[in-house]
Amino acid sequence: MQIAIDGPAGSGKTSVAQALAKELQFTHLDTGAMFRALSVVLSEEEIREEKDIEKRLSRTNLQMIPDGVSIDGRHLTDELRTETIDQEVSYYSQLKVVRDWLLAKQRELASELDVVMDGRDIGTVVLPKAEVKVFLTASKEIRALRRALQTNRMDEYSEILADIERRDHIDSKRALAPLRAADDAYVLDTTELNFDEVLEKIRHLVEEKR
Ligand code: C5P
Repeated sequence: MQIAIDGPAGSGKTSVAQALAKELQFTHLDTGAMFRALSVVLSEEEIREEKDIEKRLSRTNLQMIPDGVSIDGRHLTDELRTETIDQEVSYYSQLKVVRDWLLAKQRELASELDVVMDGRDIGTVVLPKAEVKVFLTASKEIRALRRALQTNRMDEYSEILADIERRDHIDSKRALAPLRAADDAYVLDTTELNFDEVLEKIRHLVEEKR
């Protein structure tokens, strides 16, 4: 079974996907972490041109590990969510060479397993035939607040809000696989819902399909 959970930065999709996968004993695939992992390596090595990225990717080995991503045998966890990577990831994720490379990997993983996959384009592009598609939304202020509380950075609330606005804009306006709800997705506004209420609604959708 394939479950797709999409939504903007800070919508809570990754935490919900993780909890749901655990309950169902499915594999959770956080596609944001994949884009972030490639951004770590490419930005460290200062590779920015598409043709150079293509060459680098042809010798890159990416694997999902329980709390992050392994790239060429190097385990990345905390490095995925730094402010630098928040900045870099929007550049790399709009490039065709990066998206095509990850798309193949994401589909390959989902074909072998029961998955809960979260991202921006899972219901629209990666798994258009997913049995359950959910698109989570919430006001940008609430998303920034949740992120600030989660990462213990309440004093940086305005910077976090600005980053969320910037990424919302880039992710939804880019030409390739922009952030949007699939026509057949269940759109859930979580502004006034807590984590358990969101999980309960999605659990219900899954039960209906099973
Ligand atoms: O979900 P997360 O905030 O970790 O994603 C980081 C970035 O990766 C997003 O802002 C977006 O640019 C990119 N991304 C994407 N497509 C996905 C998942 C993430 O473009 N399916």
